[in-house]
Amino acid sequence: MQYSFGIIKPDAMQKKHYGKILDDIACAGYKLIGLKLFHLTEEKAKNFYAKHENKPFFDELIQYMCLSPVLCFVIQKENAINDFRALVGNTDPKLAEKNTLRHKYGQDVSANAIHASDSEASFDREWRFFFTENELYFPNDLQ
Ligand code: ATP
Ligand code: MG
Repeated sequence: MQYSFGIIKPDAMQKKHYGKILDDIACAGYKLIGLKLFHLTEEKAKNFYAKHENKPFFDELIQYMCLSPVLCFVIQKENAINDFRALVGNTDPKLAEKNTLRHKYGQDVSANAIHASDSEASFDREWRFFFTENELYFPNDLQ
């Protein structure tokens, strides 16, 4: 079993796509381990996306991520990291395949509805920005 971390971004929050996105994720076989509304500060967004700080879109990305509360989550499934990246789709929703979350719910390469961890190392770093260990609920027989 593997874990991944995701964020439903401000555009999808404002368009009220969060319910449909969580339903798509559940229907794709993921268990929900943690879920939290969180309004990023500029400082926290800059830290979270630090690897992009020299990119031309960095300022736009930070402003966009702070527009509204986002919904952060931890999910579990076999091969969760790669499978969830595939479910999320290409960074640019216009290039994302049909049935991917970005194709269905994203606007453009900036406002692309959802973030997904891209590796186990990213997952290990990212979930800690938003959760403590005792806020995660590991699967039992009821799930
Ligand atoms: P994420 O890390 O959010 O899951 P990703 O891994 O598909 O997305 P990255 O290259 O890590 O893509 O870019 C991080 C985020 O920065 C993108 O999801 C998008 O919101 C924004 N972004 C990326 N490229 C551009 C661009 N060319 N113009 C504007 N914003 C961009
Ligand atoms: Mg990325």
